[in-house]
Amino acid sequence: VRYELEAQRDAEATTTDGRKITLSANIELPSELPLVQNSGAKGIGLYRTEFLLLKGEQMPGEAQQAEIYTNLAKALSPDPLIIRTLDSGGDKLPVEPLTEPEPNPFLGWRGIRVSLDRPNMFKEQLRAILRASAHGHVAVMFPLISGIREVRKAKDLLKESMDELAADDVPFDENIETGVMIELPSAAIIADLIAPEVDFFSIGTNDLIQYTVAADRVNHRVADLYRPTHPAVIRLIKQTIDAGAQHGVWTGVCGEMAADIQLTPLLLGLGVEELSVGPHQVPRVRRAIRALSHAECAAMADEAIRTPLSFDVLDLSTALASKYY
Ligand code: PEP
Ligand code: MG
Repeated sequence: VRYELEAQRDAEATTTDGRKITLSANIELPSELPLVQNSGAKGIGLYRTEFLLLKGEQMPGEAQQAEIYTNLAKALSPDPLIIRTLDSGGDKLPVEPLTEPEPNPFLGWRGIRVSLDRPNMFKEQLRAILRASAHGHVAVMFPLISGIREVRKAKDLLKESMDELAADDVPFDENIETGVMIELPSAAIIADLIAPEVDFFSIGTNDLIQYTVAADRVNHRVADLYRPTHPAVIRLIKQTIDAGAQHGVWTGVCGEMAADIQLTPLLLGLGVEELSVGPHQVPRVRRAIRALSHAECAAMADEAIRTPLSFDVLDLSTALASKYY
């Protein structure tokens, strides 16, 4: 099987009826680049830059970040590199020691909230990303967006960063693609309002699921409630994709759900245009996409969206998966 998967490395991630899916990779460390290149992924759909944080230390400075991002962008060019700005906090390292521990870190100071509260640190990262954008296909993505105000503030700081670089004659891509993670129910519900502000959506199902069903993604006691096929989750995904499509905004999925090939029929059927998964998962997901008919997935998803129980939604998707692989 491994042999067969490797042989398909350069094959397009296209369904049997010709729908092209962008299949890209998630990384946490720049050292994963060779894995990405070997997997045949179409670029990086999620670079989790918070892993640049080392325990007890600050983010690397602008020049050092720029070098890291530039090396990645060059190596991947012309394929895209989607750099997600710092998503510290939650279950990840904090960007600075907290004076008092948070009672609910997942509901606390994490993601874009931290960046907007530390604009100088945020702009260092944005300028570093912009510097890299002169050397490849770089996109910027903001994590944990809960509403429009955060999107606008983040974009304002991006614009300021551009002006600062321009004043110093530093080249960058003025039309850098700008996207947001859709990983909070509030963002999914107003996806139609966010869409005019951005170029793409990337659905973070890891967080979207935990916030929708109020079950901590790292708490085994409530793991049974944590279901990607919960009808509420499926509807939020569908709503996001449809709202994006109406505004010419493409939608991908970069949470773990994207790597579950039992759920590939469901995600394709809902209209996802990009899947970003761990480099090791790329070959399996590619094979799944290439085995499926988009039309058949869409008909199944139409039924799934009206199905009341998560187990039954899962069964619908699994039935199609096992018919073809
Ligand atoms: C997600 O929430 O699905 C996601 C991709 O982001 P992270 O796992 O880094 O929170
Ligand atoms: Mg997340």
